[in-house]
Amino acid sequence: MSVTCLKCGSSQIESITVPPDAQHPQSRIIIECMECGNKWDPADYERLKRQKEAADRQHAYDMWQTAFFAAVTSNNIPEATRLLQQQADLYNKFPNPTDAYNYLNDQIRKSNKTTLIIVGIFIIIVVIILSFLI
Ligand SMILES: [Zn+2]
Repeated sequence: MSVTCLKCGSSQIESITVPPDAQHPQSRIIIECMECGNKWDPADYERLKRQKEAADRQHAYDMWQTAFFAAVTSNNIPEATRLLQQQADLYNKFPNPTDAYNYLNDQIRKSNKTTLIIVGIFIIIVVIILSFLI
């Protein structure tokens, strides 16, 4: 498995020995991308890679959802169906784009409601604490 820069994807990387400093009493090796200058600790690479993959997946899903919602709300059913088929799990549960759209909207509403409840409880706690202080 080859190591590539997680910022620009380049495989032009070099290891650099960094002399000891106040933070790191021993000299250490870091990796630098020759293409974009991105630097990382080789021990962090797998974790950073997983983080980036998760962020990429989330971004791809957000883009997909935006396109899918736009297709459904503009009544472009062929496009909505084509997009829906890209999400196999969802498509298996809701082969009809409108049903899938309603389901996703419901999930978003539920998660917004949960956020509101958490914020509400937090505000109530702050108000209670403040009322004891005054
Ligand atoms: Zn790079």
